[in-house]
Amino acid sequence: MPVGSDAVQLEKIACPLCQAAEYRHYLTGRDVAMGVPGTFQLVTCRSCRHIYMNPRPTLETLAACYPSGYGPHRSQEHGDGCSVDQPKDLKSESQAASSNTSQPWYLRSFVRSIPGLKSLYRWLSDTRSTVLPAAPDEGSRALELGCGTGQFLESLKAVGWNCEGVELVTAAAEQARGRGFEIHEGTLESAQFSDSSFDAAFAWHVLEHLPDVRSSLIELHRVLKPQGLLACSMPNVGCWEPYVFGGNWYLWEWPRHLHFFNPKRLRRLLEETGFEEIRIEHQRNSLNVVGSLGLLLRRMFPNSRLAARILEFPNRPTMWGQLAMAPFAIVMAWLHQGGRITVTARCRKNSTSGEQP
Ligand SMILES: [Zn+2]
Repeated sequence: MPVGSDAVQLEKIACPLCQAAEYRHYLTGRDVAMGVPGTFQLVTCRSCRHIYMNPRPTLETLAACYPSGYGPHRSQEHGDGCSVDQPKDLKSESQAASSNTSQPWYLRSFVRSIPGLKSLYRWLSDTRSTVLPAAPDEGSRALELGCGTGQFLESLKAVGWNCEGVELVTAAAEQARGRGFEIHEGTLESAQFSDSSFDAAFAWHVLEHLPDVRSSLIELHRVLKPQGLLACSMPNVGCWEPYVFGGNWYLWEWPRHLHFFNPKRLRRLLEETGFEEIRIEHQRNSLNVVGSLGLLLRRMFPNSRLAARILEFPNRPTMWGQLAMAPFAIVMAWLHQGGRITVTARCRKNSTSGEQP
């Protein structure tokens, strides 16, 4: 029988990856970001070691986990309350730098003439949060799962893709349609795409939200062409951050994150669901660390104004703050200790018969 608050009902489930019923308790927490009422529990599967939410919100009440102010469903934001592309300040100022008007002072001609400064700036500001390959052919089709308001679809279109999106939330889907894109409102499965119909599929900070992530990956494999590209990103539970911050880790995101992967477990799942040439890159992103420090401080001092200011930073990072933290983020990524990972893989499929996992 479901248990939980009036809004979100919870139900006990078997491991979503291996169907084993045995688990052990991992961590319990509350929704400190959006205030969805209730206490939520993560468990570790005793068979495959997957970390997942159990009991989990029922499929009927899953939408109640996403209140109307949820960041990725608002315009100009994408992904867990944080930008998953370049930070907005950096991006807008990079764009300004490429135009002839309103260039920021540090990219004006005399500054740009300093050897290496422009390259250094670009290197420091590249968080590796997304990949944006150019369309291989004129008719190449791309799909974005969980497209939100269509911000990344705009980027895909700009590099030549014919792209469309899948979005569960009506208000976000309507905004994306307003940008001129074809949006399938609902789940990936309900869109009923044809076999082998896309050259690429993108899912930025989406897989950890899906109730049956294995089935969703199999469905992505079905709709991708042989050697089609899968690109996605997600939190990395295998890094140092959850061990140091415990229940205050910024990326637990109860009750919206239903799965937590480390690179090894994720690689195995992708291989099992028909993908190959798997490449996992650790993002150069310190926003989780800042957010976790804010949550830790607020736990210790609930009325702390400093904690409130720190917690604002991941949603509205300043360029200078980001650049100041870039060396730390780059070292953590180099040590394979990034809190978020960006993954690319190719669809392993026979071009004539269509091998299914
Ligand atoms: Zn399992």
